[in-house]
Amino acid sequence: MEQTFIMIKPDGVQRGLVGEIISRFEKKGFYLKGLKLMAVERSFAEKHYADLSSKPFFPGLVEYIISGPVVAMVWEGKNVVVTGRKIIGATNPAESAPGTIRGDFAIEIGRNVIHGSDSIESARKEIALWFPEGIANWESNLHPWIYE
Ligand code: ADP
Ligand code: MG
Repeated sequence: MEQTFIMIKPDGVQRGLVGEIISRFEKKGFYLKGLKLMAVERSFAEKHYADLSSKPFFPGLVEYIISGPVVAMVWEGKNVVVTGRKIIGATNPAESAPGTIRGDFAIEIGRNVIHGSDSIESARKEIALWFPEGIANWESNLHPWIYE
């Protein structure tokens, strides 16, 4: 089953949006496979966002991600990478549709509350980076109620 890496950024944690965000993924029918609250170091944040290192906003982005604890998660389900990005909404909250997490809870692109992997390949890389210890391999009893 497909997996994605979702991270609630420091603003989402400080603003008390953790439960709301987890709830949205749960209610959709996705399955929580890994979860931890953690503060990351600068070098780790730079590694996570390595693809964006040449962007002018990169230093500010790294400061943002290390500014407080984040919630790192692995969610599983059919098409969870693409559907997870839809639940999250467009990168710039000014363009995120209402009903999406960023559309409902954010105003600025540099404080957009949540990260989600953009492809199956980046999900694989990000899960390996954030969960080097691995994640539990247990099955959900919900599957027969979610999938035909
Ligand atoms: P997404 O998080 O939607 O995958 P990107 O991978 O393009 O978006 O960018 C990573 C993060 O960098 C964004 O979520 C946002 O926090 C930040 N970011 C992107 N573009 C800008 C920008 N123009 N100015 C400030 N921050 C930005
Ligand atoms: Mg991205």
